[in-house]
Amino acid sequence: MEQLVDKLRRERTLRAEEYALLLENAAGPVGEYAARAAREVAEQRFGRGIFVRALIEITSFCRNDCYYCGLRRSNTALPRYRLTEEQIMACCRTGYESGFRTFVLQGGEDAALDDGRIERLVSLLRNAFPDCALTLSLGERSRETYRRWREAGADRYLLRHEAADAACYARLHPAAMSHGRRMGCLQALRELGYQTGAGMMAGAPGQTTRDLAADLLFLERFRPEMVGVGPYLPQRDTLLAGAPAGSVELTLMLLSILRLMLPDALIPATTALASLVPDGRQRGILAGANVVMPNLSPPAVRERYAIYDGKLARDAEAAEGLQELDRQLAAIGRHIDFARGDFRATRHTDN
Ligand code: SAM
Repeated sequence: MEQLVDKLRRERTLRAEEYALLLENAAGPVGEYAARAAREVAEQRFGRGIFVRALIEITSFCRNDCYYCGLRRSNTALPRYRLTEEQIMACCRTGYESGFRTFVLQGGEDAALDDGRIERLVSLLRNAFPDCALTLSLGERSRETYRRWREAGADRYLLRHEAADAACYARLHPAAMSHGRRMGCLQALRELGYQTGAGMMAGAPGQTTRDLAADLLFLERFRPEMVGVGPYLPQRDTLLAGAPAGSVELTLMLLSILRLMLPDALIPATTALASLVPDGRQRGILAGANVVMPNLSPPAVRERYAIYDGKLARDAEAAEGLQELDRQLAAIGRHIDFARGDFRATRHTDN
């Protein structure tokens, strides 16, 4: 099994059944072997710095009804909120003073935040913070909308593909949501020059290792600049509330495989992983992740962005907890890197 890890490190590609084999053995010694290889590769590329991105959850309204997500439209138990332009600007100002140079605006697909409103917001932020990277994560929009936002100054876009296999996608989403459309959005984002992020949950209900192997093959082909992978975590007011959470080991194996496959990629140790186990963030970094995304939303609304139960939003997970984050990173020989950390255009062929 270790040989598969060595092969992936060398060739940056495996066959579907080889990926599946690694994932099925994630909990064994091969998991630790893969993590060691992945962190070596990450260290060669990025040194010991971990990029930080300030995450602002700008709206919890969503027109979609994803079976697993607490923001789903049918969840009437969730009190919704939408930040004003002034609140978002204030968050960014605070973040900038703390040292952040990337702002990630994330939210549900909120019809009230129409194309023009986001375009104006992006322009405002672009002018106010010319040295910062602006990342959007606002779901599926038309190519024309993505174009307008890009021209207004957005640099990056995060849109997890959620599942490369159409049948797996259909088990997690209602029929009104189209797998083809989501994949088309990723393609459009890429063509428009966004640094593009894709990804999926680890251990989502009904997801098999074959499905995950298909995700890995898709990511290998698409080569996103950023890849977000975190464990599925149940949310009590969703259809899938009774399904068990994804495992730490599976998540870590996916992170390690991705680091070996895409050495230059920006891969976060997600909040979901940190919410699943207390040392999740550190273990994610030691398995090859090189980004953390502390929450910069106003503390009063954080609980209302309840995509899953037990979501961390304080201490090292929060922008005001940078000292705690620094301490946690120092404990594993890492430190915060405030650089924009753009994807490096020059690909290395060594290693
Ligand atoms: N609406 C935007 C979109 O669809 O890309 C961004 C917000 S969405 C809440 C961000 C991500 O949260 C999704 O891509 C999904 O993978 C993740 N997510 C949602 N519910 C989750 C859950 N129960 N457990 C783990 N991750 C979840």
